[in-house]
Amino acid sequence: MTSSGLHLEQLPAELCRVPSELPQGTVYLRAGKEKPLLRGHPWVWDTSVERVDGTPADGDVVNVVTNGAFIGRGVFNSRSRLRVRLYTWSADQDLSASFWQERVESALTWRKRLQLVGPQQAVRLVFSESDGLSGLVVDQYGEHVVVQVNALAMAVRLTMLTELLVAMLQPASLSVRTAPSTEKAEGLPHLDGCLWGELPQRAARIVEHGVQFDVDLTSGQKTGYYIDQRDNRAAVAAYLFDRRVLDVFCYSGGFALHALVHGNARGVVGVDSSARALEMARHNAILNGVSERVEWVCSDAFEFLESQQAQGRRFDAVILDPPKFARNRYHIKEALRAYHRLNRLAVNLLEADSILVSCSCSGSVSRQDFIDMLFGVAEKSGRMIQVIEQRGQSGDHPVSLACPETEYLKCIVCRVI
Ligand code: SAH
Repeated sequence: MTSSGLHLEQLPAELCRVPSELPQGTVYLRAGKEKPLLRGHPWVWDTSVERVDGTPADGDVVNVVTNGAFIGRGVFNSRSRLRVRLYTWSADQDLSASFWQERVESALTWRKRLQLVGPQQAVRLVFSESDGLSGLVVDQYGEHVVVQVNALAMAVRLTMLTELLVAMLQPASLSVRTAPSTEKAEGLPHLDGCLWGELPQRAARIVEHGVQFDVDLTSGQKTGYYIDQRDNRAAVAAYLFDRRVLDVFCYSGGFALHALVHGNARGVVGVDSSARALEMARHNAILNGVSERVEWVCSDAFEFLESQQAQGRRFDAVILDPPKFARNRYHIKEALRAYHRLNRLAVNLLEADSILVSCSCSGSVSRQDFIDMLFGVAEKSGRMIQVIEQRGQSGDHPVSLACPETEYLKCIVCRVI
């Protein structure tokens, strides 16, 4: 991705058709499928659909009804198992440009209230279903904006959304991305380019709780940085004074650098399987003047933990922040087994009276199942585990009660005796 890459006029042709604001069809639900939708859940699965009246094209607006009664209005996509994404439950509300604008403005107002919008702040401005904008994620890194499109509904409205975001935020650049998993599920064309302005030469500089990070907006993971762990990184640092810390799945050094700068950890080992991530971590450590107390290791996490055990090495704190182990609810059991194995390996490296920070970003693994998994680890390893703090995602990633899938991040701070 370069600043001279994709521009609005170069979007794939199918994304240039401006969908009508008015409903182009009616989706009739099968009996008994309406309950979560009536309670505000925005996902209408293909298996819930009885029939479709009219010939809506993918990306068109449709009404969803049950027994002749209006439930909501959303966007149709025949390519996805998620056949309709609902955006309003009010029959007299059109999905017009001003409708989308109000939704984005409301999301932005909340982040401003949290005082998260500033020249060097990293903030999630729009969090999909939680902000009534299913399939749209907008992250801001200082003056640069990264849009992640996770639904065809948003992709076909990208021109309008880009225009309104540029007018509202006046960013130095606005780039767009799709995630490979959603491209497949939604039948989306691959998007990866700068739609507005110019990307920073090297990286976007952000400051999180006084710790500096350079964020790679072009080849980084997610939209460049794991913003959701912002407050957990600061909270965890408070437990790490003078400790020897192992930060597993460290990416660009988020927890590790907080531990060194705020926690005044004695030393940190950061482990990640991505050489590119470690390059950023190394750079960020230098940026904060703490590189002498940190060692970066490029390795598979499981292999590394096993090797440390074999060498008899011990730590006073281990942080585990793995990627998503469960893609969906069909993978929960398998994921819990992997979490158990990982946490057991970590606990085996801990001195008596140490800290374990165990995270999971698998939305389909419930908080209770995750805690139960930790209990299983305590039993199997013969260690007593106290839960000190149960944390989740930062306030710019709100949870929609109507859409429980929006609660995905668990960060459990434990004392291992
Ligand atoms: N803790 C980080 C975010 C971690 S995201 C922060 O605060 O920013 C998950 C990380 O796990 C990614 O950097 C990814 O490269 C890494 N990863 C994925 N699979 C891995 C594996 N098997 N072993 C080690 N690292 C892995």
